[in-house]
Amino acid sequence: MLGCVIHGQGDLRVEELPVPEPGPGQALVAVRYGGVCGSDLHYWRHGGVGDFRLREPMLLGHEVVGTVVAYGPDASGPSLGTAVAVHPATPCDVCPECADGRRNICRDTRYLGSAARFPHVQGGFAAQVAVPAGQLRPVPDGLDLRRAALAEPLSVALHAVRRAGAVAGRHVLVTGAGPIGCLVVAAAKAAGAGWVTVTDLLPEALGYARIAGADTVVRADDPEDAGWPAEVDVAIEASGVAAGLDTCLRLVRRGGVVVQLGMLPPGRSQFAGNLVVSREIELRGAFRFDAEFDAALELLAAEPSFDGLVSAVVPVGEAESAFALAADRGRSCKVLLDFGGPASMVPGV
Ligand SMILES: [Zn+2]
Ligand SMILES: [Zn+2]
Repeated sequence: MLGCVIHGQGDLRVEELPVPEPGPGQALVAVRYGGVCGSDLHYWRHGGVGDFRLREPMLLGHEVVGTVVAYGPDASGPSLGTAVAVHPATPCDVCPECADGRRNICRDTRYLGSAARFPHVQGGFAAQVAVPAGQLRPVPDGLDLRRAALAEPLSVALHAVRRAGAVAGRHVLVTGAGPIGCLVVAAAKAAGAGWVTVTDLLPEALGYARIAGADTVVRADDPEDAGWPAEVDVAIEASGVAAGLDTCLRLVRRGGVVVQLGMLPPGRSQFAGNLVVSREIELRGAFRFDAEFDAALELLAAEPSFDGLVSAVVPVGEAESAFALAADRGRSCKVLLDFGGPASMVPGV
């Protein structure tokens, strides 16, 4: 079977790998689609993401859907042949954060395809992967597997909106119209946001933000753009660049909330801290998600317009060109790798 292994910066290889044997408590999943995430691109282009560096070869991928084909000893879950999405996180359930119900910031979690711990947790970009059976979620009836592959990034977006607090009827600013920014738009609208303004440098990315439901789109490099709001109630930073955070801090109203979701460059970032002081802005981080995964699958099942955010489906053998496409936001939104699982088991395909 084929898998996508990152060996170091710029060194992505599609390799023939042995089919894993599901161990105790594990399920074997025949992966159909895997979404290429910004973090996968960071491992490929920079050899790390945020402050996590690659230290050994690692299967990439944490946005995977497919069908369950076997269980290991003492494992059970959806019946064999069921279409499933894989929740990528296995929190420890004993640390203080887990005890507080904040499993997404568990200090000892295992996250598919992540170099945050060593040995790294291998990812899901392979034709078959063994994962803890408790991570399987049945795909709702009628939900196309390609759209279901958005469950992980949509969960990230839903969590960020939840971190923002009440958004119903409010004006929400989203900086960055990559796949995550677009899904934040959709999540904010689903939560009842009254108006959503999105900024980005690229008109093509802003086009995807429109598909996701943005009310106003603004060219971030054009101070004369008529779409700039005077102020917003909530700002969610989804670009991962310091300039985006600056925009959020300048435009959020006094006492408003800014959520930093985009992963900033490694190390320290400058920010307009005095605005946080003098306007009593609440600056909050948002990282991954927990139970939002189930809500994401339900939202995807209910809303066909998400299909417009899947801009390409590329066979795994062409993974490098898929990564190049995903890295070019002028040509793509979410790019999926196709691992060619049994098409007859894929609903809607
Ligand atoms: Zn992701
Ligand atoms: Zn924990």
